[in-house]
Amino acid sequence: MKIQRTNSYNAYKNKNSFKGLIPLEQLKELAARKTPEAKKLLNSCVGFNAMYRGAENLNPDRITREMADKFQIYTDFANNPIVAACSALTANIFHKLGFVQPTNILVKDLRGTGYTKTLAFCTISPSNYELFRKFGEDFPIRSVIINEAKNWDNLQKNMLRDKQENYLSTGHFLAPFIHEFIHSAHLDNLMKKHGNGTKIMRKMLKDFKNEDTIALIKKETSEYGSTKPVEMVAEEMTELIVESLSPKTLMPNEMIFKMQRAKEPFQMDVLIDACWSGDVKKIEQFRKKKNKFLEFIQRLNG
Ligand SMILES: [Zn+2]
Repeated sequence: MKIQRTNSYNAYKNKNSFKGLIPLEQLKELAARKTPEAKKLLNSCVGFNAMYRGAENLNPDRITREMADKFQIYTDFANNPIVAACSALTANIFHKLGFVQPTNILVKDLRGTGYTKTLAFCTISPSNYELFRKFGEDFPIRSVIINEAKNWDNLQKNMLRDKQENYLSTGHFLAPFIHEFIHSAHLDNLMKKHGNGTKIMRKMLKDFKNEDTIALIKKETSEYGSTKPVEMVAEEMTELIVESLSPKTLMPNEMIFKMQRAKEPFQMDVLIDACWSGDVKKIEQFRKKKNKFLEFIQRLNG
């Protein structure tokens, strides 16, 4: 049993080429820019390199045992030490901030499903046809599913690109993990409040149609956040958590997290609260396309 595990671990180790390390020249270039945004990216790159080097000597099976003992999360990392390291860091962050943890973290080859291009996602209902068709089983609700077929070595490089294009709210390498963990915590909150959280969450999967709302979210958060209420919350909360991380330890500072939250523009604050608590009526006011004719009539009456 033990020999087998060592063998499979070594097989992965040989695959690790360190191509994903952010080179010194790029770190220097970020440092020279001296903007707050570049400073944040530099901190993430330095953290990523440390995590990436550490992953070489990391045994994913050990992380699995620790995650079960400490957080009661069932994990299967499919021997991927990068995913194991990032998941453990994220679980520690969530523990410190008092957020509910996901039920499972499962690394799966998603080729041939509707999730081929997805880096990771969170299951929001107890059954999912796409997953059942490929794996012949259902995964528990609030599982974070990680796409094994993606190149996780390039995680930081891809995040730098996505942030540069304002597609995502932050270029931090832990952001994809924090984002999915937030979906799970959000759903847990809805389930506690409304019973059937899935039903409410589905309503938040409808695209934003209101141009003012879309513009506000694009400015405050990211393009991806401006697609749907559920993504707005995940992107916004991810940014707030990342901003509160110590660059050295990658642990959050709860006070900074709360302070950043308090600094949100009023409209954004209202929308985040409405989404987090599942106030569908309020969300719809932000989401729906403005009815120009109705506004005209209301102005006449008002
Ligand atoms: Zn998402």
